[in-house]
Amino acid sequence: AALREGYERFDPRAYLRNNYLPPRADFSSEEFVVPWKLRCLAETFASGEIRGRTLIDVGSGPTIYQLLSACDHFEEIVATDYLAVNREELGRWVRGEPGAFDWSPFIQHVCKIEGRGEPWQDKEQRLRDRLQRILPIDVHRPDPLGAPLCPPADALLSAFCLEAVSPDRAAFARALAHVGSLLRPGGHALLLGALGESFYVAGPARLPVVPLAEADVRAALAAAGFALRELRSYEMPPALRTGVDDVDGVFFAHAQK
Ligand code: SAH
Repeated sequence: AALREGYERFDPRAYLRNNYLPPRADFSSEEFVVPWKLRCLAETFASGEIRGRTLIDVGSGPTIYQLLSACDHFEEIVATDYLAVNREELGRWVRGEPGAFDWSPFIQHVCKIEGRGEPWQDKEQRLRDRLQRILPIDVHRPDPLGAPLCPPADALLSAFCLEAVSPDRAAFARALAHVGSLLRPGGHALLLGALGESFYVAGPARLPVVPLAEADVRAALAAAGFALRELRSYEMPPALRTGVDDVDGVFFAHAQK
């Protein structure tokens, strides 16, 4: 209940400013956190192994950076979020409306690291075309979308959501199992998330976060029926400890159901 109340004050624009503008979104060096996240995803999708009809992104928030490498490998991307304000922010970007957040530096960077010489506008258009569904979700429900996804997703992605909406590690593990039910057996799951974080701010909202260690991520994935393929982590450099949260680092996990 406390978390739900916190999210009522979540300001998408403040969240975007805190996390997706400099200094965190600085593309001049791979040492910054946003280029690190984009590289994890680009390298993982580059294998070509993760592909199919549908990829579901859980707790998309107001962001699309996490879908830039993914969108080349799926016919449809389903974005989801608990908050209408975030789903509306995403819709503005998909429709190219004035006032939408400018993701073009992210798209340009991903095209550069993917190294195929693709014009960034082509990737932008592809993601807009494929991102047709933006659905409400609650990861605390055993049936997070309110109905099963038919057919189930071929891949599942979730970035900075489960630990940011769970009061403790047990709730995090349960939420992971709930969203795992949206994925077909054999499907791939990619998780990005915060390590050692206890709160973050988004305008007037101060959201509690369950502080995770790598071992917690491993345990929750195993308990939810996933085989871990890869786990990497990043340590937040002092220059990026800006006070918008108390995150120690970021993990990236690739697992298979
Ligand atoms: N994926 C984005 C946003 C993460 S912020 C990124 O990588 O930056 C955490 C998100 O979880 C917010 O968008 C918030 O609205 C969403 N959220 C809050 N409660 C939730 C719930 N019960 N189920 C699913 N998502 C929830």
